[in-house]
Amino acid sequence: MSHLQVAIVGSGPSGLYVADALSRKLADAHIDLIDRLPTPLGLLRGGVAPDHQATKTIARQFERVLGKERVRFLGNVAVGRDVSYSELKSIYDVVVICIGAMVDRRMGIPGEDLAGVYGSGASVAWYNGLPDARDLDPQLDAGSVAVVGNGNVALDVVRLLGKTEDELANSDLCSHARLKFAAASLTDIWLIGRRGPLDAGFTPAELGELGELSRVAIILDGAQLPVQVPDDLPDERRRVVEKNLALLQNFAARGEQAGKSIRLHFLFNAAPVAILGETRANRMKLERTRVENGRSSMTGETFEITAGTVISAIGYRSSPFPGLPFDDQHGIVGNQLGRVEPGVYTAGWCKRGPNGVIPANRTDSLAVAELIIGDFSLRANRDKAGSKELDRLLVERGVHVVDFAGWQKINAAEIARGASQARPREKFTRMEELLAAAAAS
Ligand code: NAP
Repeated sequence: MSHLQVAIVGSGPSGLYVADALSRKLADAHIDLIDRLPTPLGLLRGGVAPDHQATKTIARQFERVLGKERVRFLGNVAVGRDVSYSELKSIYDVVVICIGAMVDRRMGIPGEDLAGVYGSGASVAWYNGLPDARDLDPQLDAGSVAVVGNGNVALDVVRLLGKTEDELANSDLCSHARLKFAAASLTDIWLIGRRGPLDAGFTPAELGELGELSRVAIILDGAQLPVQVPDDLPDERRRVVEKNLALLQNFAARGEQAGKSIRLHFLFNAAPVAILGETRANRMKLERTRVENGRSSMTGETFEITAGTVISAIGYRSSPFPGLPFDDQHGIVGNQLGRVEPGVYTAGWCKRGPNGVIPANRTDSLAVAELIIGDFSLRANRDKAGSKELDRLLVERGVHVVDFAGWQKINAAEIARGASQARPREKFTRMEELLAAAAAS
């Protein structure tokens, strides 16, 4: 029986977990991990907050997957540009789409396209050094920033804006973002949830971190907080909500917080209605909501806050390439429990939507790998050319592929650049820098 030829599109955690599972369980599988960037690791590199270095230690495990004998990394290869989706389907026995969700959802309110308004996807990609977002250069000069959303991404953004240079010293926040944050002279950050404190998506560890920022005073009107958590929540959710509520009650009870230069205002039950300004955002209009049985409704009562910068952290959509079945309503790859069409599968945020941390994606990827194994392990007709044909096409098209050795060079050079500043790494943030580092002798 010939080898099973597998292409995984996207080398973030989901794609790497699928590759790991398939390489362990299908001894004859050849796996090509294709990524549009010259760097693997997806959101671990481009999404996880630069001051959450402990989360990034999982990269060592992923490096072992990338270094396996029958796994190849093909970076700087974009499906839809360098090779089409239909070509992949004809070349490989199995194609697994793990492209994540990179496009910011829109708030759908007037003023969203004013200067000074950004999505968290673009903002996080910018401070984490993704080449696509390198020139975003968000305006942070107005003193006041509104962050919309009550998930952990919103908290990441608030925390990074709130930290001092010293508090960011051990992070791998890119230099361009460090300089911008240092020059920002912020006075007020508004954290805006359209529902109540019990409905927030953030988790206690991340919420607690906001309470420890040395230059941030927390302004939270205790009248926004319920006295206790309702009885009818499932146990796991109840534990999270109780801890969140205890932290928020602690924040609300803080007296005067002298000597702090930034005020962090928690606003719950406040839905964005419009962003106001001539060409650039300068105020935000919000409407009070009330939540009954988990559903929020507008009350008609509106108010305004001053905000020269607005960052929406309200979730993401996937970005399909031509020919890929797509569920436009949900912004995900069209699929039935991971099956897209014969021989094509999907895993991760592009399959389920943008929720869940890395371990949740591991569980999802393992389930999809099991589907593939069930469908293919006994099949004899493996007649696809796979890697050889992809290599031929890429050579013919003059594509500059960055392989695992190239990534290892980028990685080592970035770590060396960081070491000279006593930081974990200093990333290359432009395509030409990344390609040059990968090609260095
Ligand atoms: P999320 O947890 O789903 O939060 C999205 C937030 O946006 C919710 O509060 C949602 O409110 C709000 N929202 C949606 N549409 C809105 C609108 N039109 N106007 C105002 N608010 C709106 O998503 P996320 O923060 O993007 O995080 C994605 C996943 O990554 C989550 O599973 C998260 O836990 C994970 N993550 C984890 C970490 C960490 O562990 N440190 C860090 C970052 C991300 P409603 O609830 O009312 O819809």
